[in-house]
Amino acid sequence: MEPVKYSVIIPMFNEQEVIAESYRRLTAVMSGMNETYELLFVNDGSRDGTMGVMRDIAEADEHVRILNFSRNFGHQAAVTAGMAHVRGEATIIIDADLQDPPECIPGMAEKWKEGYDVVYGKRLRRDGESAFKLLTAKWYYRFINKLTNNMIPTDTGDFRLIDRKVVDTMNALPEKNRFLRGLGSWVGFRQTAYEYKRDERWAGETKYPLKKMLKLAGDGIVGFSSAPLKWALGLGVGLLGLG
Ligand code: UDP
Ligand code: MG
Repeated sequence: MEPVKYSVIIPMFNEQEVIAESYRRLTAVMSGMNETYELLFVNDGSRDGTMGVMRDIAEADEHVRILNFSRNFGHQAAVTAGMAHVRGEATIIIDADLQDPPECIPGMAEKWKEGYDVVYGKRLRRDGESAFKLLTAKWYYRFINKLTNNMIPTDTGDFRLIDRKVVDTMNALPEKNRFLRGLGSWVGFRQTAYEYKRDERWAGETKYPLKKMLKLAGDGIVGFSSAPLKWALGLGVGLLGLG
């Protein structure tokens, strides 16, 4: 098999409205880089027409590969599965809804070529995101960074380019309920930020309802801090004393 320079992981849950446009823009960018590449679509148990569109695209373009989940396992699981299957020397993780502009990838790749192993997207501004989401995200990162000694850079998500050795290292970790942006910092290596303007979702609606957001937030805290365990212990001992 031909070696692959760049792999792109695109997790998708009910993204039938965006997939064709997402594919078009990714292909324009990746083919413009004049290197070998693959697009790895991960269908996270979509209940709409996503899988059908994926199949049509993959049939017509040998750059496209598909991972198809038996049910909805969640965004972090979809990206994790993608990481186990990518072949590239560098891997890009990007949302399907074009909030992370594919046009940033060449700039991220430049930093990788300069010698950085992790080039994480840092949001300069977020268009079209609710005041609620912006405020809760701000509070959350302040809180988790207090618990973890500033482990996670502010205003970063999962949009990033990571070197093969980082992919291999993260794949070797035993964590199940992953908080990838946290693990991505935790593993170390040479890291740098790539600033970008986060756009509005191109079409459709968020696939991260409050329930999923809370699970992600919980996994982030429990995965990176023993503080909740200590609080539980303290509470237990306190109640025992009271009893
Ligand atoms: N996603 C997924 N599984 C899920 C929820 C979301 O694969 O259970 C994907 C989704 O298709 C998108 C990315 O994760 O590519 C981010 O989701 P979304 O844009 O809905 O989140 P938001 O930007 O609103 O936080
Ligand atoms: Mg989005």
